[in-house]
Amino acid sequence: MPILQFPSLEDRTNVHNLIIDYANKRVTLTKMMTSVAEIVEQYKVLKFPVFDYSVKVIRSKHASHPIISIDSARMSDNCPVCGSNESGYLRTEKENFDLEYDVVSTACMDCSCVYLSKGKNLRANVKKGVK
Ligand SMILES: [Zn+2]
Repeated sequence: MPILQFPSLEDRTNVHNLIIDYANKRVTLTKMMTSVAEIVEQYKVLKFPVFDYSVKVIRSKHASHPIISIDSARMSDNCPVCGSNESGYLRTEKENFDLEYDVVSTACMDCSCVYLSKGKNLRANVKKGVK
């Protein structure tokens, strides 16, 4: 087994800043995901620890760019750090086909915390009248 090098603070900060820039619409999705993958893939880790969450790179031959998934983040309706409900959408991490919400990753607009939240999906309509 090779020894895994723990990502440097600089690289973790760069990954976090790219994600926050995307949530604030300062960079495009493709730019953010490509740049994050470049940093993460220097390390031979499956999960790249950022601060209080991790990211994973998903490579698919069907996608023109790598997909960055937010992993191990806290689940909360509002920001778990400052309580703000001003958040920027990052990605739908998990689709719940039998529930009225999906799990989406978001970034707090006030304190830049990254967390998971319940995002309403349109499948609530499908279940209308069914209890
Ligand atoms: Zn916050």
